[in-house]
Amino acid sequence: MKKTVGVIGGGQLAWMMAQVASQENINLVIQTPSPTDSAVSLASKTIFGSIDDAKITAELAEFCDVITFENEFVNLEELQTLADKGVTFYPRLSSLSPLLDKYEQRCFLQQQGLPTPHFKAYESSSDFDNFSFPLVLKTRRHGYDGQGTIIIKSPSELTSILPKFDNIPLLIEEFVPFDRELAVIGVRNPLGEIKIYPVVTTYQKNQVCRWVIAPTMLTTSQQETINSIVQTLLISLDYVGVLGIELFLTKKGDILVNETAPRTHNSGHYTLDACVTSQFAMQLQAVTGKKLGSVDLKSSGAVMVNLLGFENADSDYEEKREEIMRLGTFVHWYGKNESRLGRKLGHVTMLLDEDTPEKNQEKGKLIAQQIESIWYS
Ligand code: ADP
Repeated sequence: MKKTVGVIGGGQLAWMMAQVASQENINLVIQTPSPTDSAVSLASKTIFGSIDDAKITAELAEFCDVITFENEFVNLEELQTLADKGVTFYPRLSSLSPLLDKYEQRCFLQQQGLPTPHFKAYESSSDFDNFSFPLVLKTRRHGYDGQGTIIIKSPSELTSILPKFDNIPLLIEEFVPFDRELAVIGVRNPLGEIKIYPVVTTYQKNQVCRWVIAPTMLTTSQQETINSIVQTLLISLDYVGVLGIELFLTKKGDILVNETAPRTHNSGHYTLDACVTSQFAMQLQAVTGKKLGSVDLKSSGAVMVNLLGFENADSDYEEKREEIMRLGTFVHWYGKNESRLGRKLGHVTMLLDEDTPEKNQEKGKLIAQQIESIWYS
């Protein structure tokens, strides 16, 4: 029977889920505030209202077998009253609750014995005593796409920045001089079946992801460590759905967990074109209790490049998109009617067919640079 899945959020993640919903025999109903949000045109139905308004979610629940999340910045306490009345949320609210505050998330990772950068909650200036410069300051809640993450190089910079965060809870963290940044998508269904996608290299500029290349190069022991991190997280959270995990690979070859996002993740967008089952189809399979599809790559590798806003404008950049498409890429344009600096407007994927991950990484980087030179020129 056709199931109906509710999604809290109507941006590009819900839009990409909506694209694969009918092939999974699923109706998608979304909760989002704005009629111009990407997913509104593709969803079977939209309940308009704020993401963190549980009264709107109660309306959404009337149409749905299960509710999932595009955006985790919800009001868990109010949603709990719906869960108590029998509304099913996947991931469960109890899986989300240790993850929404970056400090609490770090404490949770540590309790599970997972390796993380050294961290501390900021309460007073003496909290900085055990950190050297550069150090990293992060807002504990509602940070994403590098917003709320600041790398502080000197005591004087710290002194000038701290007053800007008066009354905002902060996390202090050691700066990791990583060799590479990695990411991986794990998924689990209600029966406990687990799948893990290929681990990717991610490239950030000013704390924002610019491109992703799959698969990354790993030793057998690094791959085993990452598999074990993913399994520990999915099982300890009793998680259902897709979980994005960002990692640092240190210069010594150790793996540290930076953070985890309880939803489909930007580092997994390549799976739409490059994997047998995309992370969006997988999310729908997991939350409706289906057997999980294959995470295999359809080619030996892939590169995904984010198309970020570089000006304030209302252009749809058709010429640039066509030029990028002519390189033999898949262009995903989120249909946002307004470009702003740094806003995610779309992404591009190109399959790679070199015979080793090393060569795919090299080729992927060249292609990413070529795409960016068209996009940002
Ligand atoms: P967000 O939730 O905004 O994505 P992240 O914690 O993922 O925040 O940080 C964004 C980026 O900032 C990371 O991908 C990385 O490039 C950089 N960064 C974050 N924490 C550290 C750290 N401890 N050491 C070095 N770089 C970091």
